[in-house]
Amino acid sequence: MHEMGIAESIAATVIDQAQRYHATNVREVHLRIGEAHVILSDALISCFTAITMTEPLLHDALLTIEEIPHRGRCQNCGNEFHIEQFMVLCPTCGALTTEVISGNEFDIIDMDIDIQEEGS
Ligand SMILES: [Zn+2]
Repeated sequence: MHEMGIAESIAATVIDQAQRYHATNVREVHLRIGEAHVILSDALISCFTAITMTEPLLHDALLTIEEIPHRGRCQNCGNEFHIEQFMVLCPTCGALTTEVISGNEFDIIDMDIDIQEEGS
C-alpha cells in the first residue's frame, strides 16, 4: 500500500504551505487525483487522518479528493474513451495513437486555513 507514503508527502506539503502563510489551523485540503495514479481514495484519507492526529496544525484537517477519470483521445479516428487498465488501444479503430487527455493529475487544488490575526 503506497497510500501512506503519498499521505505523508501531502501532509508535508500542506504543513509547509500553512507555515508559509502563518496558519494556526488547517481545516480542509482539496486534492485532484487522476485515475492513472491508481490511488485508493479511502485508503489515502485513512492514512491522512492518521497523520493529522500527530500534527497539531492538521488536527482538524479534512481531506477531500476529486477523482479524474483516465481518458484518451485516438489521434487516428478522434474517438475519446475511458482507458481501462492502461490499455491505450482505441476501442473503435484499434489504433495505438492514443493521446492521454486526463488521468495524470495530482494536485493540491486548495486549502482552507485559519490565519492568526495581525497584532493579536
Ligand atoms: Zn481510433
